[in-house]
Amino acid sequence: MKNLWNDADAEKMVADYAKKGVDGDLALRVYTTRLLGGEPRLVLHGGGNTSCKTRATDLVGDEWDVLCVKGSGWDMAVIEPQGLPAVKMGALLKARALTELSDEDMVALQRSNLIDPASPNPSVETLLHAFLPHKFVDHTHSTAILAIVDQEDSKALVKRVFGDRLGYVPYIKPGFDLAKVAAEVFEADPSVEGLILDKHGIFTFGDDARQAYDRMIHYVNVAEEYVAKNGKPKAAKAALPAKLAKASDIAPMLRGAVAVARGEGRFDRMISDFRTSDAIIDFINSAKIAELAGRGVSTPDLSIRIKTGPMAIPAPDADKLGDYKAVIRSHVETFAKDYQAYFETNDALDDVKRTMLDPMPRLTLVPGLGMFGHGRTLKDAKIASDVGEMWIEAVRGAEAIGNFQPLSKADLFPLEYWSLEQAKLASNKPKPLTGQVVLITGGAGAIGAATAKLFAANGAHAVIVDLDPAKAAEAAKAAGNNSIGVGADITDPAEMRAAFDKAVAVYGGVDILVSNAGAAWEGRIGELDDATLRKSFELNFFAHQSAAQNAVRIMLEQGTGGVLLFNTSKQAVNPGPKFGAYGIPKAATLFLSRQYALDYGAHGIRSNAVNADRIRSGLLTDAMIASRSGARGVSEKEYMSGNLLGQEVTADDVAQAFLHQALAERTTADVTTVDGGNIAAALR
Ligand SMILES: [Zn+2]
Repeated sequence: MKNLWNDADAEKMVADYAKKGVDGDLALRVYTTRLLGGEPRLVLHGGGNTSCKTRATDLVGDEWDVLCVKGSGWDMAVIEPQGLPAVKMGALLKARALTELSDEDMVALQRSNLIDPASPNPSVETLLHAFLPHKFVDHTHSTAILAIVDQEDSKALVKRVFGDRLGYVPYIKPGFDLAKVAAEVFEADPSVEGLILDKHGIFTFGDDARQAYDRMIHYVNVAEEYVAKNGKPKAAKAALPAKLAKASDIAPMLRGAVAVARGEGRFDRMISDFRTSDAIIDFINSAKIAELAGRGVSTPDLSIRIKTGPMAIPAPDADKLGDYKAVIRSHVETFAKDYQAYFETNDALDDVKRTMLDPMPRLTLVPGLGMFGHGRTLKDAKIASDVGEMWIEAVRGAEAIGNFQPLSKADLFPLEYWSLEQAKLASNKPKPLTGQVVLITGGAGAIGAATAKLFAANGAHAVIVDLDPAKAAEAAKAAGNNSIGVGADITDPAEMRAAFDKAVAVYGGVDILVSNAGAAWEGRIGELDDATLRKSFELNFFAHQSAAQNAVRIMLEQGTGGVLLFNTSKQAVNPGPKFGAYGIPKAATLFLSRQYALDYGAHGIRSNAVNADRIRSGLLTDAMIASRSGARGVSEKEYMSGNLLGQEVTADDVAQAFLHQALAERTTADVTTVDGGNIAAALR
């Protein structure tokens, strides 16, 4: 690992922050924290922290000795001074005299001694930083260090690799008890330059930012070199099928299998993030992969992301894809059963009241293909994949020099079910469509974009399909929530298929279709040329059928139901003069919606239509509104609000109707009217 310290960069950071009133210690603390945070093999998604001891002034001008320590929720790679809240040292040091301190009291002590009460919670490892006398303290979960400490005889190995230069601290859950023991280990030999925390990671320290950082990189390199020099030959590879199925073939099956069934056809769905590389495949093709996955996580805080460890499933045979869904389901069932047993066994050991988290895996290893991270959002799924890559790094190293032997699951349990983490979960309420993927055709138009925005605000990830890829991307950006835009001519079945493939590639599947794209052609029906009518049928009927077919194909693989929503327009039931080319295929699409409701209801797939009228959009442009209102001799406003309510109907109103239909879990074969009231077009 390269030492990235650069004098010019460090000086520049000190100078830049000095202009903002940040002192030099804190500026350099920010500098090396970012250096450490930018390297995933050291620090990943909250696993690691840093501190410096300095002085700070409170609001009444009193100056205090403080510990500026990493606050929770801050990413070390992009940390700012406010991500290192200042805690008064006096109180922290006094705590050392206590015989015990609960996690809740520890948090209270830290918070009540903040200089700025608006600060984030200081790290749970704050006391450990405080009890060490050094000005700068760095802590990482280096994968090379984990290869050394995740061994049965780790204490002897640490001594062999690092000699007396680093102290050895046995495994204790982070918090008050660990802080005290770590301080005692240091005090027993104050000449050490850092501490190795068994099954957990490494601390280094120094008088200045550079010394602590240099030591971190140095000892990580010592570990890396030891692994490189002492590596034994790799384990045998598992035999793979002659013809492997593709990741996209199995993604919806897997996504469906890891969805949490809530009963009565309801599911908490997850997003799947597929990731692969030569390094990933080389490792997971090991004949031992299922056994290694079962041993657990490489450092305990990964349990927050991937629970007790990854799930490994067999490589999928392209010729036996029909049986593979059952193979996946049986592996997920076993994982869930084991997880439940792990919870029940460990929960029974004391009187603490805990809620079992869902028992589904968060990382699936598929030999020959790669891995899938699972999470309730794309962000969480990607974090699970990131963590998976670092799990592989650590386990590969550990297996090269011995046997990967991480923390036991009994010791892992108190960390995964930490009261502080459980409290965080209780406050983290999902949105109504969290975990779901909606694909919207005509997604960059007025109704499509409004629908994408509303669905994304309600937790869904939107796949916005539009003829114009730039506009699709723009609408995805406006919708937010990691939505994506896809350019496609949906009257071409291959392009429609590619749009759905993209949804599967990015999110793992599709749960909701909003089949919305349409265009209007005019002409009196008896004189209409055949080509125009057929062209309208291609977009206003066959594209709806093609979208629904693709959606249903994926939904059946997932086995978690789904919903098809069609924009059928008022024309489907109430023809307008010279509008047959538009209204007739729309009428067919209305019945298409009912046919899907009938044919797929037994699979939990619902199908509904929205019957909207007179919406400002690409179909009804401002110019058309001007000409039509003029022709009728009414004002534009009167024309647009010519309905029973006397109010203009907007794209947002249509989006609201689609959302209602998506959320109404017992509503199928429904037609919802969004036209402000038009008695001639009223249904039933
Ligand atoms: Zn740690």
